[in-house]
Amino acid sequence: MPSSDVLILQEKLNAFLSIAKNNEKKQRNFQEYELALLTSSGLNELLSIILEQHRDKFQLTEVTLLLLDPEYEFQRLLDSITIPKSWQGRLLFSDSAQELAQDFHVPRKVKLSIFTPSHHQALFPNYTSPTGSIAILPLMRQNKIIGSVNLASRQTDRFQQGIGTQFLQHLAAIISAAIENSRLQESIKQLGLRDPLTGINNRRFFDQRVEEEITLAQRNKTPLSCLFIDLDHFKRVNDNYGHQAGDQVLKQSAEIFDDTMRSTDVLARYGGEEFVILLANTTSKAAYDIAERIRLIVAETEFNISSSQQPLKLTLSIGLATLDNNAAIKTTQQLISSADQAVYVAKESGRNKVHHAN
Ligand code: GH3
Ligand code: MG
Ligand code: MG
Repeated sequence: MPSSDVLILQEKLNAFLSIAKNNEKKQRNFQEYELALLTSSGLNELLSIILEQHRDKFQLTEVTLLLLDPEYEFQRLLDSITIPKSWQGRLLFSDSAQELAQDFHVPRKVKLSIFTPSHHQALFPNYTSPTGSIAILPLMRQNKIIGSVNLASRQTDRFQQGIGTQFLQHLAAIISAAIENSRLQESIKQLGLRDPLTGINNRRFFDQRVEEEITLAQRNKTPLSCLFIDLDHFKRVNDNYGHQAGDQVLKQSAEIFDDTMRSTDVLARYGGEEFVILLANTTSKAAYDIAERIRLIVAETEFNISSSQQPLKLTLSIGLATLDNNAAIKTTQQLISSADQAVYVAKESGRNKVHHAN
């Protein structure tokens, strides 16, 4: 064989080897990513893998995630975590399958195309380049679209028709399964922290949260107020109208408390007909005003119960304690027992009252 032919063959072989090496690297990269998705410890970590690691690992300009969330379940699950600013415009929610198809143009099969702002901007709100290419990976569950993972690159030839989409289809299936799995896990975890009757936080949640709030208040030197709420003569509601009526009153009361709260306040059912509200960064004077407002709203509310045509009237008593720099209350135990004793005083002094512990 002439030596020039050998050289050509050698060059071809080198080119093949380089492609093979490159493919091996891609494969390894993909396997690592897949493993990270499957072993993520919760919804928060999973989202950061999709929204951050994915882009860096595969050298993309933008990665966004759109989730169908008609009952705000995802958004509620995410309420308890702080969402990084960098996820704004990258973690997207839609409340209907129709919107998913018509406004976001999510296809049923992986779609590769040139980036066209008029058509694709909804999926990439932060992507400012007028050109580039995109891949839309629909996420499916039981043959229904539940969202999409959307990849954008400034390179116009990165995603183009004719390129095999098997790899991206596989990726979409893994991401769907991982999201579904962590959504279930998260809701099970939160179920253990929620009161099934009223849907608000339970005592277990409160016990964890109060420690965190106290640490924060002490670190930031801000006051923290605690309201203990006890419904007055609640036993009579059960005795006179049945326990189902009692349950209805508890639910409606929880709704009233929830409606009166600010987003930084923490509400929980402490037990039976007792509720607790933690008011972050709130002085005892401000907390007193809030407590009075709650007391008045409840006293004026007509509770609807199914076992009686007549609406029911009810009052409550509130004990209030504040942890601040100057007060004697310093620990969780002191805060809770002071608020609890204050309720007792409110009851003794005639009920339908707010009593200040300090
Ligand atoms: P006070 O004004 O002194 O607080 O009187 P009270 O009747 O509210 O207090 P007491 O502690 O005597 O009774 C509380 C009642 O709350 C007794 C209990 O059966 C009822 N209760 C506790 N949890 C529930 C519940 O989940 N559903 C219903 N229907 N009743 C409940
Ligand atoms: Mg009680
Ligand atoms: Mg009571």
